[in-house]
Amino acid sequence: MLSPFLQKLLFVNQFGIDKGKINLLGDKLIMLHASAILELQDIDESKLYEIAKKSSLNNLVAFVEHAKVYGKIKSVIIKELIQLGQKIGQTDEGTIKTLEGLFNINGLGKMNIVNLDNEKKEAMINITDSTIAIEWLNKNKKESKNAVCTLTAGVLAGIFSYIFGGDVDCVEVSCIAKGDNICEFKVGGKS
Ligand SMILES: [Zn+2]
Repeated sequence: MLSPFLQKLLFVNQFGIDKGKINLLGDKLIMLHASAILELQDIDESKLYEIAKKSSLNNLVAFVEHAKVYGKIKSVIIKELIQLGQKIGQTDEGTIKTLEGLFNINGLGKMNIVNLDNEKKEAMINITDSTIAIEWLNKNKKESKNAVCTLTAGVLAGIFSYIFGGDVDCVEVSCIAKGDNICEFKVGGKS
């Protein structure tokens, strides 16, 4: 099974795995096992967060720019991506779906935007079945004292820094690795 978002990108030749390369919207990706991410996290957690944040912000900028250049082909998915470059609000269902579709292909779990406030630059996001948290529990065979989805928090911080047009950070407030039902992330400005 391939997500509807990826199916659309595949159809317009903007996603492919061939000849030892994974191409997504003009960028190159490398697949890595989830356990390798946890090893990297053990080395330097805050560095991993900063790298993920910077990388997801830059990727999103590049995706939207790429879509604009590519936009001469009248594809709905490409138009939807270009719309990410504009401010979105809680009511912009189509754009929110595009954003969720784009996040969900990361393999980090399924993103649900619970609340979105453009004025305050704040958002609440849930991730169901967080890959990082499940891998952490498999590896450690016990619950964690702290939230563990640092990579996911970094990716979300980057995405919402782009969406809000200003630097925001992301903190994981609930985590299934801690025994919570869901991983929940709070996005907001630096205080
Ligand atoms: Zn988590």
